[in-house]
Amino acid sequence: MTSNAEHGMLDDFLAYTLAGRRPAAHETQGTCANGARWSWLDEGVLQFEPASVGKGTRSVLASAGVHGDETAPIELLSRLVRDIARGSAQGGLALTCRLLVILGNVDAMRDACRYRDDDLNRLFSGRHAQVPHSHEAPRAAALEQAAIRFFADASSEAGARWHIDMHTAIRASAFEQFALLPHTGKPFSRAMFEWLGEARISAVLLHTTKGNTYSHFTAEACGAEACTLELGKVRPFGQNDLTRFAGADEALRHLLAGESGVAPTTMPRVFTVIDQLTKQSDAFELLVAADVPNFTPFAKDTLLARDGDYRYIVSRDEERIVFPNATVKPGLRAGLLVVETTRHTLSQLV
Ligand SMILES: [Zn+2]
Repeated sequence: MTSNAEHGMLDDFLAYTLAGRRPAAHETQGTCANGARWSWLDEGVLQFEPASVGKGTRSVLASAGVHGDETAPIELLSRLVRDIARGSAQGGLALTCRLLVILGNVDAMRDACRYRDDDLNRLFSGRHAQVPHSHEAPRAAALEQAAIRFFADASSEAGARWHIDMHTAIRASAFEQFALLPHTGKPFSRAMFEWLGEARISAVLLHTTKGNTYSHFTAEACGAEACTLELGKVRPFGQNDLTRFAGADEALRHLLAGESGVAPTTMPRVFTVIDQLTKQSDAFELLVAADVPNFTPFAKDTLLARDGDYRYIVSRDEERIVFPNATVKPGLRAGLLVVETTRHTLSQLV
């Protein structure tokens, strides 16, 4: 039997979380219709354990709202919680994986903003300790600990640890839905690329340096196959056309249900970071349209930015710009340059 409090939480985890509700001490755990056990661990943090756990049981961290205004994936995760709670008999979801659901920056979600003081997705891997007075610092530390505790009980078999961090983009993109894979120095897995293909992610960006994102943290510190998904444009809660996100939603549900999924007809194209635009001073000029879509290609010899004596001129036959932003502080990255590496990358998957 389930209590009313539990129904309120699992039927609409987003509304429950935004309202600042917390379960009473004796109501933090329970059992779903299909026998999966749930535990409320923290505000916006909910763990599920399937009815049976074996040596190779997969552990999946699914997060959204690390940027508070990226509403569509937050709504998708809230529905996912509801469907797991209902169990497969009621048209819900049969869970075969351990699952940690995380709604990231809950305070920013309440304010309908990206963040209050600092971009939470730049504070992981310990960087929060450098900004201890930031509103986001304690949350970054708490989400690191939540991931560490969750994966501490996870199988160490290859492919058993996953992290899908779902975002939406502000900027238009030549590839509407794309993924970012963190750089850990380890080879990329075929399972992840096939999953991204199933999720209808058309492009993958490979970082070549370490970052401070949540997916980088779980890849590095928890040994997870981790990705950041950029799933299209930001809209307020309730105004999202969730069908536009069906590819990622269905692929995540297949992963959690332990269904092998549909073999993707198309693997994503792959792009590797080869350089960056660096803002040296306030004289920095970005010589592309302010709203240039991500992954827009530029031909060799194109001047993309200048700043005093600094020039960025395209030196390969084709380079594409990603996340251009001239408004960053001097000394920071004002954009990434990528080149296509699809054939090489897909031939090296393990
Ligand atoms: Zn985001």
